[in-house]
Amino acid sequence: AKSVTLKNISKAFMNDKGEKSYAVTGVNLEIGQGEFVTLLGPSGCGKTTTLRMIAGFEDITEGHIYFGDEAVDQIPPNKRDCTMVFQSYALFPHLNVFDNIAYGLKIKKMTKPEISSKVESVLDIMNLQDYRDRMPNQLSGGQQQRVALARALVMEPGVLLFDEPLSNLDAKLRLVMRDEIRRIQQQIGITAVYVTHDQSEAMSMSDKVIVMNKGMIEQVGTPMEIYQRPKTKFVADFIGTANFLEGTVKGTEDGRLLVETSSGVLRIRRDGYKAGDRVIVVIRPEAVSLAKGSQHQGVVKKSVFMGQTQEYEVLFDGQLFQITEHNPIQEKVYSVGTSVSLQFAEDALHVI
Ligand code: ADP
Ligand code: MG
Repeated sequence: AKSVTLKNISKAFMNDKGEKSYAVTGVNLEIGQGEFVTLLGPSGCGKTTTLRMIAGFEDITEGHIYFGDEAVDQIPPNKRDCTMVFQSYALFPHLNVFDNIAYGLKIKKMTKPEISSKVESVLDIMNLQDYRDRMPNQLSGGQQQRVALARALVMEPGVLLFDEPLSNLDAKLRLVMRDEIRRIQQQIGITAVYVTHDQSEAMSMSDKVIVMNKGMIEQVGTPMEIYQRPKTKFVADFIGTANFLEGTVKGTEDGRLLVETSSGVLRIRRDGYKAGDRVIVVIRPEAVSLAKGSQHQGVVKKSVFMGQTQEYEVLFDGQLFQITEHNPIQEKVYSVGTSVSLQFAEDALHVI
């Protein structure tokens, strides 16, 4: 496995008017050997462009890319030590599974016994032995995607790249394939860069998530860091659901910030702020519970039983707060129109 470093990468395209328009701006990134990192962000934020620059399919307008210590900017895609897995599988329709997987090795002019042994071992890893003689049109979408992955793995690349590889699969199969891709990546210990706009996919698969917005990196962190300690409102909003309260830091007490909001003072564990700072408190739906009472009062506008949870919308502080109660029980469910008191789990609050 190789490490990958992006140094101040930018990519400009010419738009319809012939003007330079930046799809990616000043991206710096270090991906360790054997790490699984995901580029996550809304459509059009520059994920695919970044991945294609790593693969060499797209020239870099500014900056440099390294695999290990080696600058690869000038190395053509087929000579770079990486392979890309696409959303559209891109299997050869006239070749069976075995030959599809063997194809790249034949191009490399490997001997027959070498090819055979490598393909066999990948068929084993991917549980594809039973399908080795099938043609692509005799396979389900999930099986085709496994063959596409097998075809990439057999090349033993230093870096494996994925561009939304699960988008064409149904929801249930997507969950299965997430686990499978992650299992194989860990088993082989390969470096993987994965692109998706699906936050739960990113959270469930990655060592590190890179949140992108408008061609730039907003935050790099473990799934837990970006969920619990988002650096920006964009990240807080894009990853999961977030409620926001504006406030002012009044001081500290026992290592906690006292943040005054229009709905009272909250005590939040957080460093790096001082009295007078204007802040935004990020409040996740599960960091609030509802009770009877007069403190932090709101009115229930929506109340939906979802099985594991009761989902509320509560009009509070002039906004609709999203609130999730786990393990709902009949006596403690509040119906629409009820006045409730919001109780904040202050340890779960975060300030930006
Ligand atoms: P994502 O994969 O995050 O959806 P892309 O990297 O595909 O985003 O696109 C980022 C931006 O670059 C978009 O505004 C897109 O229209 C633009 N773009 C991508 N490829 C080209 C191209 N070949 N020519 C011109 N503009 C492009
Ligand atoms: Mg894309």
